Amino acid sequence: MTNIIKNIDDFNFKNKTALLRVDFNVPIDNFKNITDDTRIKYTIPTIKKIIYDGGKIVIISHFGRPKGIQSKKYSLKFLKLFLSKQLNNIPVFFYKNCIGENIEKKINEIKYREILILENLRFHKEEEECNKEFALKLSKYGDIYVNDAFGVCHRYHSSIYILPKFFKKKCIGYLLKKEIENIDKFLSKKVYKPITIILGGSKISTKLDLIDKLWNLSDYILIGGGIAYPFISELGGKIGNSLIDNKINNSTIINIIKKNKKKQKIYFPTDVIISKFFTNSTNNKVSSIFSIPKKYMGLDIGPNTINIFCDIIKKSKTILWNGPMGVFEFSNFSKGTRLIAKEIKKITKKGAFSMIGGGDSISALKQEKCINDISYISTGGGAMLEYLKNKKLPGIISMMI
Ligand code: AMP
Repeated sequence: MTNIIKNIDDFNFKNKTALLRVDFNVPIDNFKNITDDTRIKYTIPTIKKIIYDGGKIVIISHFGRPKGIQSKKYSLKFLKLFLSKQLNNIPVFFYKNCIGENIEKKINEIKYREILILENLRFHKEEEECNKEFALKLSKYGDIYVNDAFGVCHRYHSSIYILPKFFKKKCIGYLLKKEIENIDKFLSKKVYKPITIILGGSKISTKLDLIDKLWNLSDYILIGGGIAYPFISELGGKIGNSLIDNKINNSTIINIIKKNKKKQKIYFPTDVIISKFFTNSTNNKVSSIFSIPKKYMGLDIGPNTINIFCDIIKKSKTILWNGPMGVFEFSNFSKGTRLIAKEIKKITKKGAFSMIGGGDSISALKQEKCINDISYISTGGGAMLEYLKNKKLPGIISMMI
């Protein structure tokens, strides 16, 4: 195996069947309306290239977490019409399983320039178990394997890690290529300084290593949301009932605090909006983050923190953002996240490079109508963090020929 990865432009798909692994795990409402179609839209160029070359496509994807159990709730059937519309009514077919005797027959039946979507891979528990037999069955469905599923490239799943190993002809699609190029651009020393990293959300366990890893690269690290509280607690602050992620490693927190004392890069919130209940309550107050009363919890960054964070963003030339500054789903605690989104938009318009991943940060940008002004929107929050920490994602290694 070399470390060469082919991309979709290296192939002509005429009279070929592409087995295309995508991440169509899009958010939907109760009526199965797609509330954010970014992931699908970003794969359209890949689909078009294969179709215009004269190939046919078998699409495989996961959707939600059905844990090996078939259900209507997690069916991919609803994407058939949506995808066809996105592609000027190109015929799109759907088959009710992704494993089974009829599938190869079905693939033979569809014409070149047509598409077949197979049912949710995760209806089979083998998908998440890195299972060779399962991957071998899937490998019969195409001549060329195309990976455009960045959102799951950090997972050791059968269709991501094992399946490509059965193919001599394999490549990454335009979505995955763009993700790699943009994150590599961020990691290279070629971006302009000052570099600011903004981290929020609730899962500190997924973000601690990143702080360590990107320490030398960054000039400022702004920490908001629930992940600030373990630091404040370690610094001796009283955080009341605020969020503490149980999976955290205290020694890493202590080391980061020590590093920050030697050379300050991290900025924590100074004030927060507190509430007694985890609801969209209007009965909120501003408190110092170091002295939150016992029965209260911090659910958003406060006005002073917003000013400090925005001032730093204003002077940045490169920005990476992952995770909301508060419980952004509650409108009364979304202000911090929304104002950060606006400030990033402004600075990007002035020429800064901004890269944003994670569903909540992207929703905030959408709400504030900032989405088109960001340099790069990553389709995978978790995958982006993992790639930043360690470029060797299973879904990328397995594409090497
Ligand atoms: P993550 O998946 O780690 O990016 O976390 C996103 C989640 O963090 C969102 O659902 C937010 O509601 C949540 N979050 C952000 N700030 C807080 C906070 N101060 N307390 C509790 N949850 C928070």
